[in-house]
Amino acid sequence: MSLLVVGSLAFDTIETPSGRREEELGGSAVYFSLAASVFGPVRLVGPVGEDFPLALVEGWRARGIDAAGLEVVRGGRTFRWSGRYAGDMNAAETLRTELNVLGTFRPKVPAAFRDSAFVFLANTHPATQASVLSQVDRPRFVLADTMNLWIETERPALLDLLRRVDGLLLNDGEARMLAGERNLIAAGRAILRLGPKWVIVKKGEHGSFLFSADHFYALPAYPAERVVDPTGAGDTFAGGLMGSLARDGAADLGSLKRGMLHGTVTASFTVERFGTGGIAAVDAAAADGRHREFLRFVSP
Ligand code: AMP
Repeated sequence: MSLLVVGSLAFDTIETPSGRREEELGGSAVYFSLAASVFGPVRLVGPVGEDFPLALVEGWRARGIDAAGLEVVRGGRTFRWSGRYAGDMNAAETLRTELNVLGTFRPKVPAAFRDSAFVFLANTHPATQASVLSQVDRPRFVLADTMNLWIETERPALLDLLRRVDGLLLNDGEARMLAGERNLIAAGRAILRLGPKWVIVKKGEHGSFLFSADHFYALPAYPAERVVDPTGAGDTFAGGLMGSLARDGAADLGSLKRGMLHGTVTASFTVERFGTGGIAAVDAAAADGRHREFLRFVSP
């Protein structure tokens, strides 16, 4: 079934214990699309400036990424983000954000994308995320991402959004902050009461949790020994998860569990290289091989 992502396209400057890279291709919609396209076609909506190399879009098309929703802003400059990872590298320290075209982004979902069945609202202002919902007809499953900035500064808009989505994806620190709960299990349960039927909490190298009213599911991370750059791991996880759901054409408990397995495996490729290099090199066969290996790790 059809899958839509609305999010950022970026040039990232990244510092990790493995080194530093400037102006790496990044952005939530890019990582998401590269991961989801391992499982099936993806529709992308997001803004870029005139500095964005449109030749990339040709390669994406070959991979099943339909960039008809790419908005090239005349005279605009693409979003820039710069961050640093230290210690266990579970959270980025944002050094600089240059919003540029993302600052004025009002998503326009092309007519041909309005029938999208699965929708991922990547991390942007919650009102911007909500504006996408009024432009899609009757999506089967909507998953939203968010971040500490919106939890702190745009809480009412975020709470409005949470009443309108099926699932919320966030990391452990964000879940604790949103729920006002130290205990992560209590935090997950508290977020369910804010509206979403499903809450997925990412815990970096410690894996992920799935919460619903009746179920709880936990998965470890893939045991990656060489973590070069975690940038985009969360969006790659989301891409693998949603790509798998769209391929299943379902969003029930079993599909979500399977999707989390795929999300975990695709994210493990992203962290092995700087930027999108890891996930861009993955095809269905590579993902399938590591998926089988991961299944052996988690089966009794
Ligand atoms: P992740 O590591 O999966 O949370 O996502 C990292 C990606 O998100 C990077 O490629 C950044 O360009 C992008 N990003 C960082 N901050 C923002 C923001 N405020 N809005 C949209 N995208 C962002």
